[in-house]
Amino acid sequence: MEFITFNLHPVIAASITEAGYVTPTPIQQQAIPTVMQGRDVMGLAQTGTGKTAAFALPILHRLMDGPRGKVRALVVAPTRELAEQIHESFVTLGQKTRLKSVTVYGGVNVNPQIQSLKNGVEIVVACPGRLLDHIGQGTIDLSHLEVLVLDEADQMFDMGFLPDIRRILKQIPAKRQTLLFSATMPPDINKLAQEILNDPVTVKVGNTAPPVTVSHALYPVEQHLKTALLLELLLHTDTESVLVFTRTKHRAKRLGEQLEKAGYKAASLQGNLSQNRRQAALDGFRDGTYQILVATDIAARGIDVSQISHVVNYDIPDTPEAYVHRIGRTGRAAKSGDAFTMVCSEDTIMVRTIEKKLGAPLERRTVTGFDYTVPAPKKDAEFARPPREPRPARKQPAEAKKSPAGSINPFKNDHPGSRPAGRPQQARPGAAGGAPKTVFNSSRRGK
Ligand code: AMP
Repeated sequence: MEFITFNLHPVIAASITEAGYVTPTPIQQQAIPTVMQGRDVMGLAQTGTGKTAAFALPILHRLMDGPRGKVRALVVAPTRELAEQIHESFVTLGQKTRLKSVTVYGGVNVNPQIQSLKNGVEIVVACPGRLLDHIGQGTIDLSHLEVLVLDEADQMFDMGFLPDIRRILKQIPAKRQTLLFSATMPPDINKLAQEILNDPVTVKVGNTAPPVTVSHALYPVEQHLKTALLLELLLHTDTESVLVFTRTKHRAKRLGEQLEKAGYKAASLQGNLSQNRRQAALDGFRDGTYQILVATDIAARGIDVSQISHVVNYDIPDTPEAYVHRIGRTGRAAKSGDAFTMVCSEDTIMVRTIEKKLGAPLERRTVTGFDYTVPAPKKDAEFARPPREPRPARKQPAEAKKSPAGSINPFKNDHPGSRPAGRPQQARPGAAGGAPKTVFNSSRRGK
C-alpha cells in the first residue's frame, strides 16, 4: 500500500514525500481512511508506530476545506514534550497547507499563546491544565471545534488528568469527531472511550509487544556498580543516541552529571527543570549535541528521537507496560535498536513479570573485563534503593500477583535457550574510573 491510495490533498501528499515517508505504517493504513470517513476512532498503538501522522494527515486533509482562523482541531496530550512533537508533525506535514498550529501548555509564558490564538489558528495541541486556564480566561474559542484527539490517554490517566479531560469535554461541541489513542486500555480509559466515542472503529497495532527490531538483554549487577557498568558498556558499544532511564528525578540528575564528568555529552531530563532547560536538553539530544539523555519515565514519555540506537534501563521500570514503552523508544519505524536493562537481585520479581508479559525469557549478559566484585562503599545512600515490587498493575494484576516471590535470581539464567551468564574473564578494579574514550559513531542515522 502507498500513501497515494488515501487520496490525500496534493499539498499534503507532497509533504509526505518530503518527510521521506514511502509506505504507510500499519496504524496509518488502518486509521487514515477511517478518520477521513469522519468516523470516531479508538486507536490502540504505542509511540513509535507512526500514530501521530495517522491522525495528523487526515485532520490536515479535512481542514483544507472550510473556514480558516478558527480552532477546528484540538489534540490533548499528557506532556509538553509530546505536545511539541505533535505540533511539529502538523507543521512538517502541513507546511504547504497554510494551516496554523499552536501549542498550549504550562510552565511557559502564556502571552505568546494568547497572541497566537488571537491571530487565528486551526489546530491547537494542548496539555490539559493550561488549556483549562485558557478556557477559563476566555482566551480560546472552541465553539468551532470539529475534531478532538486524546493522545496517550492511558498516560493522561496515570498522571491524574482524567478530571481535567472531563472538564474540557464539557466545554467543546458535542457534535464532533473524536479520536482516542492509548497504548493500553485500563478500565477507566475503556469507560471514557465508551462515553465519548460514537460508534467507534477500533484500530490496533502491535498490542503491547515491543518492536521486533529491538534486541533486549539484562545486565545483572549490584546497585553500587551500575554507573561503572554503564560507563563500561558505553565504552564497548557502538552507539548513536542513548536514552537512559532512571527511577527518580534525582537519580536522573546525578547520573547525567556523572556521565558528563566521565567525558560524555550528556543531559538529564526531569520534571524539576524549567521548560526552557527541558527543551534545550531535548533539542540537544535530537540534533546530536547530547549523545546521552538521562530521563525518568514521565519526562521521556512519547519522546520521538528516531535515531536512538540504545535504551538503557539504569533502573528497571515499575511495570511490564512501562518496560515496553521505554523499549519502544528504540527500534522506531523499523530501525533496529538495543535495549539494556540493569538488574539487581531485588528486581527478581519484576524481571519474571516482564518476561511473562513478553512471553519469552530475556537474555542475561555480562561485560567481559568488568570487575563485578568491587565491594559496595560503606555508605551508598545516594543511589541505594529499597527492593522493587511490581506496582499493582493496571493490566494483568493477577499475573503480577501470581509471580513466585523471590523464586528466581536474575543473576542466574534459569531459562533454557538463552545465553549463559559467564563470569568476567579478568578482574579490572576501577575499570570505569578513568575518562572513557568516546566510541560513538560520528555518523548518525538519517532523521
Ligand atoms: P510516532 O509513533 O508518531 O511517534 O512516529 C514515530 C516515528 O516514525 C517518527 O519519527 C515519524 O516521523 C516516523 N514515521 C511516521 N510515519 C512514517 C512512515 N510512514 N514512514 C516512515 N517513518 C514514519
